[in-house]
Amino acid sequence: MASTPHFLLFPFMEQGHMIPMIDLAKLLALHGAIITIFTTPINAARYHSVLSRAIHSGSQIHVVQVPFPGNKVGLPEGCESAELLPSFRSMFTFFRATYLLYDPADELLQQLRPRPTAIISDCCHPWTLRLAHKHNIPRLVFYSLNCFFFLCQQDLGMKETLIRSISDYEFVTLVEEFKFRKAQLPKFNDDFVAFMKESNEADMMSDGVILNVFEELEPKYNAEYKKIFGSPDRVWCVGPLSLCNESKLDRAERGDKASIDEHECTKWLDEQEPCSVVYVSLGSACNLVTAQHIELGLGLEALNKPFIWVIRKGNLTEELLKWLEEYDFEEKIKGRGFLIRGWAPQVLILSHSSIGSFLTHCGWNSSIEGIAAGVPMITWPLFGDQIYNQTLIVEILKIGASVGVEMGMPWGEEEEKGVVVKREKVKEAIEMVMEGENRAEMKQRCKELAEMAKRAVEEGGSSHRNLRLLIQKHQQL
Ligand code: UDP
Repeated sequence: MASTPHFLLFPFMEQGHMIPMIDLAKLLALHGAIITIFTTPINAARYHSVLSRAIHSGSQIHVVQVPFPGNKVGLPEGCESAELLPSFRSMFTFFRATYLLYDPADELLQQLRPRPTAIISDCCHPWTLRLAHKHNIPRLVFYSLNCFFFLCQQDLGMKETLIRSISDYEFVTLVEEFKFRKAQLPKFNDDFVAFMKESNEADMMSDGVILNVFEELEPKYNAEYKKIFGSPDRVWCVGPLSLCNESKLDRAERGDKASIDEHECTKWLDEQEPCSVVYVSLGSACNLVTAQHIELGLGLEALNKPFIWVIRKGNLTEELLKWLEEYDFEEKIKGRGFLIRGWAPQVLILSHSSIGSFLTHCGWNSSIEGIAAGVPMITWPLFGDQIYNQTLIVEILKIGASVGVEMGMPWGEEEEKGVVVKREKVKEAIEMVMEGENRAEMKQRCKELAEMAKRAVEEGGSSHRNLRLLIQKHQQL
């Protein structure tokens, strides 16, 4: 007789990776699976309240904490999550530290009962493949990414020689028809290329892939991706994961503790007209130089619309704080603008009926959260997969407009790149999405996609069905 499945989860320590993995944990547990999450103290503390609530409602979720071995590779104390690193240069050292988690994970697997029926590993932990093989447990890899991204990356790999031969300002066509300027494409140094190669190989040798998308979002690319992965029944699309947060409290408490009182924020939103507010956030890890932040702020000030502007803690430089104070920014935008200094309750905000658009860096979590909320987007991609997500949003789904960045801004190159979007462009792009001639069509498409997303996670929907199949396949016999 089949018994309860037990998934051992290895989230990568970075907000954009952990947040959707915690949602996945809650969802699997809600469907009756036992969950063990392997993580480190600072990360465990971040999700303590959310997970405690799920456990109190009957979910079988266990958190195993092991010390983060950062000190063994020379990382500063407390750097247990990638966005807390002093600079991007330390990222590779951070990866090295995560490899040292193999031994404590191995020890855990020797003792853990009931024996896990599958490992679910973030794609940034290739070392978990060796662990899975040693303990003879299937390894499933989790990506909060979409299928279009994988096809672009694959095509990029095949066009390497061509790309090397063209200048930064020339274009390359990927996935048959989409043009990307070379300067916008993801760029990686040799260490990263080697790491990605190892990760990809581990993923291809794994037993399946779990994606934070829903099949109806990009059916053509979904089908193509399944072909690359070899078999459709090894790919489970279970998103949008953020929709598992049904209560206001769960929507408010994702990731870090919000730096504002969520009631104050909701009260402010309640006072605004429906679909009138622009929500501006560039995610949990992106950086802009202070001058670019100021330019963005001035663009928002010039806009005759209410807005919420989130500036992440790491970007609140002394210089920016000084400008905010001396320019008296908050006084100037009083009543019309709401500034969040630090962490925002993003999913709670996006689900409010006053939100009319979302200026986003196109991280995949933010993108799919925007899609699930039915909100048109203004896209400002900076690095990595964000450029492909912009194409998906603007050209394929037609639910947004680009702010017009023409080059990538990899972590660590912000100073060198400086101001790339002027205030006029910020204002123009937002106005185009909020009141341009295509507004009605765009809103209609957003509405349809949000309804599709909701249907996908409901009983009988594709993501709901995929989750059940995933669970059934990993029941212990
Ligand atoms: N997020 C949030 N509040 C913030 C900033 C980010 O809740 O102030 C969440 C956001 O909802 C998303 C995640 O952090 O779930 C960011 O992931 P994404 O893939 O969008 O971008 P990244 O931060 O990894 O670049």
